[in-house]
Amino acid sequence: MGRHTGPVCRLCRREGMKLFLKGSRCDTPKCAVDRRDGVPGMHQFRRGKASEYAIRLREKQKVKRYYGIYEKQFRKYFAEAARKAGNTGDALMSLLERRLDNVVTRLGFAHSRPQARQFIRHGHILINGRKLDIPSYMVRPGDVIQVKNREHSQRLAVSNLGTNVMPVPEWLDRISTDPPEGRVSRLPAVQDVALPVTPQLIVELLSR
Ligand code: SF4
Repeated sequence: MGRHTGPVCRLCRREGMKLFLKGSRCDTPKCAVDRRDGVPGMHQFRRGKASEYAIRLREKQKVKRYYGIYEKQFRKYFAEAARKAGNTGDALMSLLERRLDNVVTRLGFAHSRPQARQFIRHGHILINGRKLDIPSYMVRPGDVIQVKNREHSQRLAVSNLGTNVMPVPEWLDRISTDPPEGRVSRLPAVQDVALPVTPQLIVELLSR
């Protein structure tokens, strides 16, 4: 799948659930999932009962869209998860959850993953005191995430923290809100993922 440049709310409507791609708007009555029923497009009426394949495909698409990653990257995460001992689906979700853009969002420094990616790429985020501009960086326990000590960077993150209503997950620790700073206290488990998915269905799809 190439880069999606169209309206992102259609992605949520296609999956029939909120994927939180637009930040604070997602928690308002303006959310398209709350306002409009059914999948986007003209031919909704043609869609009958989903096949076993379609159910598994939708589960994978949900995860890719939620974390904002493409098929090739997703396959790499899956291959890495398959190499790990234990449940592949759980390992896959843990790897995705550890992405720096996800961590910045879940700490509340950005209001969405797309904004977090831009924030990171523009050099506003420090890991253990050093600038890191790679949104796919995998955080490790003990990593300290800070916002660069520049007025513009701090102002943006503090204002996002002011409007953020999502709780910080247990595997992360928000040390302070002004200046914004957080720490990774442990590796995330599948229970720490906020998206309601069944990773086993993705494993079944990609192991065929
Ligand atoms: Fe999805 Fe947010 Fe748009 Fe609602 S407002 S449909 S959650 S991107």
